[in-house]
Amino acid sequence: MTDTILNTIRLPNTNFERLHERLISQLKRRIGGDHISEQVLAAMRNVPRHLFVRESDMAKAYEDYPLSIGHGQTISAPHIVGIMCSLLEIEKGMKILEIGGGSGYHAAVLAELTGPGGMVYAIERITELAEFARQNLTDAGYENVVVTAGDGTLGLPEHAPYDCITVACAAPAVPQPLVDQLKRGGRMTIPIGEYTQELYLIHKNDVISNEKKGGVVFVPLIGEYGF
Ligand code: SAH
Repeated sequence: MTDTILNTIRLPNTNFERLHERLISQLKRRIGGDHISEQVLAAMRNVPRHLFVRESDMAKAYEDYPLSIGHGQTISAPHIVGIMCSLLEIEKGMKILEIGGGSGYHAAVLAELTGPGGMVYAIERITELAEFARQNLTDAGYENVVVTAGDGTLGLPEHAPYDCITVACAAPAVPQPLVDQLKRGGRMTIPIGEYTQELYLIHKNDVISNEKKGGVVFVPLIGEYGF
């Protein structure tokens, strides 16, 4: 344990690089190409996850599980971020809205996917976490992400409509403001449920359709259209 920590401090880049590479190959092996696209794996390879966790957790940053970020909240496990991003089929230049910014990690992966010509807007309910996310994104060098503190169930009408929306906390139902702020032809991923939660992929066309994508565990979406 002590050795690992000393190593981490002395050889930050070498050590994190090796752990990061190991995580990416685990994600490839464990999930397979169907669930996490090559494009998303490449994006995740570019995001230094150790800059999005608390300093005391840096050595665990490249393990595939959630970690506490304080205030009773967590940074999601890498595989779930990978799955959610793959479902959105993001193209360069898209405008994306994330509800539940937390550490800013998921937003950074989205920023990699949309590229410098695109934009990511993240909303975080807890002011201190919004500040944590902003700081982490700045430290990691992301300029195309804006983090706002507030109730994400209302969306962010001033920048709507969005090509994609992703919700990183579990809702009782899809909040209507988010459906309204999604572009026609757009996609949204959202976990729904309280004790048992299911990940949904929503398509907005002439009608709103949805597909169930498997069981998940997320913290609750709290707000006007949440719990
Ligand atoms: N995507 C984050 C994971 C965040 S966990 C990451 O990559 O680290 C879910 C977050 O949703 C928590 O930080 C919680 O405070 C936030 N949240 C809950 N309800 C919210 C709401 N109505 N609006 C915005 N954020 C909300």
